[in-house]
Amino acid sequence: MENALEEVVRSAHDQLLRSHADFCACEKCKDDVATLALNHLRPRYVVGDPLGSAITRVLLDQDQAKTEVTIAVFDAMKRVAMNPRHEPGVLERPASSE
Ligand SMILES: [Zn+2]
Repeated sequence: MENALEEVVRSAHDQLLRSHADFCACEKCKDDVATLALNHLRPRYVVGDPLGSAITRVLLDQDQAKTEVTIAVFDAMKRVAMNPRHEPGVLERPASSE
């Protein structure tokens, strides 16, 4: 079960989006960020046995894990922002000059 990890990744992403308004928050970018971050974190936090979900939750409750999740999500945000898959023009920015 990786739902616990995905919950933590998505909530960390929401928090980062609130403090970094220059990143796109469309559904496509959010999914891409979550996927990238999960790929990075899954081997460390998802344990493949029936107790996996419980163990994941315990691991994720530690400060070190929270920091690592935040770093992985922020790294994923930067990678998605450099190579976004959304339609051109989705990201709404204040027009500086037109
Ligand atoms: Zn986007």
